[in-house]
Amino acid sequence: MKLVIDGARIWDGASGFHDVGTIVIDGGKIEAVLTGSERDKYRIPADAETIEGDSKLAVPGLINAHTHLYSSLARGMALSNYSPRTFTEILEQLWWRLDKALDPSSVRMSAIVGAMEAARCGVTTLIDHHASPHAVTGSLTAVKKAVNDDVGLRGAFCYELSDRDGMEIRDEGIEENLDFLSTDDPSDQMSTALFGLHASFTLSDDSLSKVAETIPEGAGVHIHVAEGPEDEDQCHAEHGMRIVKRLDKFNLLRDRSVLAHCLHINEEEKDLVAESKAIVVHNPRSNMNNAVGVFDMDGFLKREITVGLGTDGLGANMLSELFTAGILQKVSTGNSLAAGFGDLQKILFDDNPQIASLLLGAQLGRIAPGYAADIALFDYDPPTPITAGNVLGHLLFGIAVHDMHVSDLIVAGRSVIRGDHFVNVDEDALYAQARAEASALWARIS
Ligand SMILES: [Zn+2]
Repeated sequence: MKLVIDGARIWDGASGFHDVGTIVIDGGKIEAVLTGSERDKYRIPADAETIEGDSKLAVPGLINAHTHLYSSLARGMALSNYSPRTFTEILEQLWWRLDKALDPSSVRMSAIVGAMEAARCGVTTLIDHHASPHAVTGSLTAVKKAVNDDVGLRGAFCYELSDRDGMEIRDEGIEENLDFLSTDDPSDQMSTALFGLHASFTLSDDSLSKVAETIPEGAGVHIHVAEGPEDEDQCHAEHGMRIVKRLDKFNLLRDRSVLAHCLHINEEEKDLVAESKAIVVHNPRSNMNNAVGVFDMDGFLKREITVGLGTDGLGANMLSELFTAGILQKVSTGNSLAAGFGDLQKILFDDNPQIASLLLGAQLGRIAPGYAADIALFDYDPPTPITAGNVLGHLLFGIAVHDMHVSDLIVAGRSVIRGDHFVNVDEDALYAQARAEASALWARIS
């Protein structure tokens, strides 16, 4: 059955904008985008599902290139003994206390809630980095089920391997990644697997050797790189080399590898990343919140490195994350022209779809015939003209700044949110369950 979005404003994700158009979807893909006389002539099939697009703006479904769904139930959590002075202490005093308290039930609920909140923000694909050291085995299947089957989004999943909880849990982490990678079906464009690694400073040479020996040919890793300055300092002191070099030594710098943050890597390491075609993901709000440093956006872009955008678990609003990416560059350089619309559009609307398309084997990121039908519809009738030349201004200074949510969300041609309501899940019931789950989780944190 066809799905037809009739009479919406349409931005194709690149340079194409239509003040009024009709999107015809069939078999999970966009069949046609009709405007002008073509649209006048088109008769919507009687059995088609139709979404009235009046006053709505259709944009390509957004992608979050680095997130942690497991952190979804942390909101509002009060912690005793919390006074971090360094990034490592933030991990020790907050995130590593939370992840140890996760059990299978809270893993599932965190993933459902995180995916629902992402959907509300127009996100159709999540690249997740999961940790639950006392509930490792089977966790990736549970997260995938929540994202793909319960909510209906696409995802790339991995388990955050680390030595920090001892060798037994490390070995479970290796098995969990390998098991999940072994079930990865290349024809399934809703889900894919990466080999997750926490960060260089919590992984010994023995652990990285084991990863290098067992990771399947062609698979990528998903790792935090030089998020805090300590990561590079420790690598140099312990291993006599810098982090990117160390990853390269273990042959983990690959074209499907996702390197989150990369705040403290030097020029030589950036050159090595560029050569390897590995992917870098910028997470501005998380970096600002942790006071860990400023991303060298120009340094990566000028080397033609693929630079994605993620939230690092700090919410799911990719448009306000993009807005923040821009103002962070402006304030840190003292140049109000830094991070222009061209660079910002490239990161969220070219590079993120390129990353997700590579990982999932789908054609994502445009509202154009042949592309996967991943579409976000915002109820957005602006008080100023909107054209091909200023759509990004509307997305950033209209939708992002006013924190507007989607009215409708379509993933692979299927409605996930329809007329402000989730199609597949009962939001009120799940949020009530999530509040109970969160209280129990907080009570377990020591
Ligand atoms: Zn992260």
